[in-house]
Amino acid sequence: MAGAPLTDVKAITDPLGYKIRGDWLHGAALHVADRGGVFPETIDELRRLPGVGRYTAGAVMNFAHHRDAPVLDTNVARLLRRHFGVAGPARARTRQLWDLASTVIPKGKGYLINQALMDIGAVICRARTPRCHVCPLRRSCVFRPEESGRGQKTPA
Ligand code: SF4
Repeated sequence: MAGAPLTDVKAITDPLGYKIRGDWLHGAALHVADRGGVFPETIDELRRLPGVGRYTAGAVMNFAHHRDAPVLDTNVARLLRRHFGVAGPARARTRQLWDLASTVIPKGKGYLINQALMDIGAVICRARTPRCHVCPLRRSCVFRPEESGRGQKTPA
């Protein structure tokens, strides 16, 4: 990709709906090629790639390198917010959620714990109808679905 003109890359990525991502991919390929073809393996190095933010860097560290790093997608953020009762202004809340996403990872278990959090967030701690009655985290969770009027509508 680094050897290809950007127009060739975008001819493939644009029709897929990845407009700006074509630019980022090409820029990242050039960055990696400049480093002798060595792909970054730290969060800081990954974030120097075009288009790579905190979430993507953490995801690559986890999914590609199986290293301990927080991955705060929408589902995990909702789960952590409910479980730990995170409240307050959006910016402070986001910061706290990232901190929690780091601290809940037992050493060396980042890949497994993130897979579990994403699965629980997607299929159990659902946005509208959390299934607290089947949730493995229910004993330590501060969320009270009965007080919010949610969580009891979905059968097991
Ligand atoms: S107990 Fe309910 S609110 Fe708490 S993490 Fe599980 S599904 Fe989410």
